Amino acid sequence: MEKRDRLYEGKAKVIFATDDPNLYVQYFKDDATAFNGVKKGTITDKGAVNNLVASRLMTILEAVGIPVHFVKRLNDREQLIRKVEIIPVEVVIRNVVAGSMAKRLGLPEGQPLPRPILEFYYKADALDDPLVIRDHVLVFGWATEAELAWIEQTCLRINDVLIGFFANIGIRLVDYKLEFGRLASQPGQVVLADEISPDTCRLWDLVTGEKLDKDRFRRDLGGVVEAYREVARRMGLALDS
Ligand code: UDP
Repeated sequence: MEKRDRLYEGKAKVIFATDDPNLYVQYFKDDATAFNGVKKGTITDKGAVNNLVASRLMTILEAVGIPVHFVKRLNDREQLIRKVEIIPVEVVIRNVVAGSMAKRLGLPEGQPLPRPILEFYYKADALDDPLVIRDHVLVFGWATEAELAWIEQTCLRINDVLIGFFANIGIRLVDYKLEFGRLASQPGQVVLADEISPDTCRLWDLVTGEKLDKDRFRRDLGGVVEAYREVARRMGLALDS
């Protein structure tokens, strides 16, 4: 496999073509943004830690039968992934009240939910990724009814697996964001895409409630990379430095 042109640069990752038209390389940067790019920073080694954590989580999900775009971790910063057409809807899964939902509904952060809530956000930077309802996704054709039903069901399965996985290492999975894509090589097949990492999850220590995620950056709490490394350490992942 040979890395070719840089195709797309996002806020935290870069996508490269390869000599195989169905495979891309996903590169994890140290750049961090929050509030849709309004707050910017660099967190040394974040990319390497996220690559490690995201690779392991994708492997765990694949092992329980969730189709994923992840193929393998190539090195410190890069993963080999299958080419997908990203469905322009971010799915947020919430187990505990926090973040934008706490603010929108005037609820205290930390209140457990009796069952998970799925929210949909339309991926559109110019609009600040607005919260949308299920009918928007269908009527505007961002996903078909069959795709959306599969995504919802798959999110709940992923949630069951991840809640248990994190609880075992003393972490409360509060909320997180997932993205899905249509496989270029297999029309009709939707797979989990993007990344799951401390950048895209809220992870709280089960005992102390300490935040081990991007809220440390968003809220200027300090110790950002240390918290990300702690997640990797509890997952049994060895970082070089
Ligand atoms: N999230 C994300 N990318 C986004 C928006 C949200 O990864 O563009 C994650 C975020 O890290 C959190 C969850 O989705 O774990 C819910 O985020 P929320 O809606 O509370 O927004 P926030 O207050 O984090 O901006």
